[in-house]
Amino acid sequence: MIARFEGSGMTSMRTRERLVSRLRDEGITDENVLDAIRNVPRHIFVDEALDSRAYEDVALPIGMGQTISQPYIVALMTQTTIAAPRPSNVLEIGTGCGYQTAVLASLVTRVYTVERIELLLTRARRRLRALEVDNVWYKHDDGNAGWAECGPFDAVLVTAAPARLPEKLVEQLAVDGRLVIPIGDSRRQWLKVFTRTESGVNEGTIADVSFVPMLRGRE
Ligand code: SAH
Repeated sequence: MIARFEGSGMTSMRTRERLVSRLRDEGITDENVLDAIRNVPRHIFVDEALDSRAYEDVALPIGMGQTISQPYIVALMTQTTIAAPRPSNVLEIGTGCGYQTAVLASLVTRVYTVERIELLLTRARRRLRALEVDNVWYKHDDGNAGWAECGPFDAVLVTAAPARLPEKLVEQLAVDGRLVIPIGDSRRQWLKVFTRTESGVNEGTIADVSFVPMLRGRE
């Protein structure tokens, strides 16, 4: 492996540990999620120029006007997604740089990820291959449609905010499956959890958040 994939030695381990204790202080309790954050090298997913900030709890630019989510938000969404009953196949909408994908892939059996910007998807796939992550399937498409052929999913996680709930994503949930999704506009967004039951859908709200908008079409 090239040097960049090995991190910058002790400093890197120390800064990762500091990030993990910060997330714990902020209320992330699932040790499996904290382990995943500790082990996935976030600096691989950001521009080399931003390497030194990779383990700060901040969102950073990844090109094409998009951002890598703040680690706290990745941890919160992952913790919510993998809570019991633990999912085995998960659909992710908004691959971006692939960091959330890598964290999820270390915790569940299969991840199906959809990104509307081809260049981002290609780069994410390349990074995950280099990290030898082999339980992820990739699709260049508008995630509003989900990925019906591979469903139903035990969980769906969306990392861009639509104004309204995309019906197709609810339809592709298995019974007892959950959809974790930010909903709102550029002024106000809420991280929501929808759980599919035999008879309908239950809705809960987790936190106020700030994501890039979920757009339509591909580019
Ligand atoms: N989890 C990502 C977050 C990236 S930001 C990361 O950690 O890097 C949100 C991503 O959602 C962007 O890459 C954006 O292009 C993508 N996106 C927005 N609307 C989408 C849609 N309709 N279908 C698929 N991806 C979409």
